[in-house]
Amino acid sequence: MPTPEATSSQSQARPVLNIITATQLKEGAGFPVRRPFPTAELPLLDPFLLLDEMGPVTWAPGEALGAPDHPHRGFETVTYLLEGHMQHRDSAGHRGDLRPADVQWMTAGAGVVHSEMPGDDLLRDGGPIHGFQLWVNLPAANKMMPPRYQDIPASRIPQAQSDDGSVSVRVIAGQALAVQALIDTVIPITFLHFSLQAGARHEQAVPAGYNVFAYVFAGKARFGEKARQAVAGQSVIFGKGENVIIDVDESAELLLLAGPPLNEPVVRHGPFVMNSETEIVQAIQDHRDGKMGEIREG
Ligand code: FE
Repeated sequence: MPTPEATSSQSQARPVLNIITATQLKEGAGFPVRRPFPTAELPLLDPFLLLDEMGPVTWAPGEALGAPDHPHRGFETVTYLLEGHMQHRDSAGHRGDLRPADVQWMTAGAGVVHSEMPGDDLLRDGGPIHGFQLWVNLPAANKMMPPRYQDIPASRIPQAQSDDGSVSVRVIAGQALAVQALIDTVIPITFLHFSLQAGARHEQAVPAGYNVFAYVFAGKARFGEKARQAVAGQSVIFGKGENVIIDVDESAELLLLAGPPLNEPVVRHGPFVMNSETEIVQAIQDHRDGKMGEIREG
């Protein structure tokens, strides 16, 4: 017979395998980015391909930078803004404004051309930008699916709070504190934004087969049964188990991301992520031939 201790949630806690500091770089024309991965130390977190923390940066009037028209194929880009204003347009005719706590979940699938630019007001007047971009890989069977666009305003992102108020979570994908996300994902993804106050302790259930990591972007928190500490700018990679344990002494803001590994070949070429070199060559050709469309004015 197992002892009560052996069947407690503690025994299922995922251990911390590694704590990795994000690299800092300038993306595109000079947008400051903190990049948890891919890095030399952490090339892939299957099914996640990339996580960028955009800013925080405060632009002077006329200086705000963005990413003008460019294509994507084979994966999904998720933009989650914390501060500022961005404008999105794509070749499928979608237009969207992203403001604090809005989420844009774009499934590039077979291919889109899109632009991700600062809002007109931000460009004119200057101001802060802070947010995240996550790239979620698509299974081989879904890489050529028709593009899909989900634009979810902050008011529709489900939120939950613990009874004592020390744990607040925005449920962007998946489930937390008995609240279910609204966004429909191709593969089951967990994407949670936790705001944790002094003395907070949270156990987040995550399906056993998923890869899981946390990215701390403000304050600090301790993870797992051994309470290993990670500070802002660090990612925590978890091993096998069921629950992720988070303890906070002062305060912390973090993202918790989880998903099932695809275990398929990953061939990256800039904005295209496919399963083979041949498919990359095809993607480059299809983009050149205009098969991913163009952004129409008006
Ligand atoms: Fe893009």
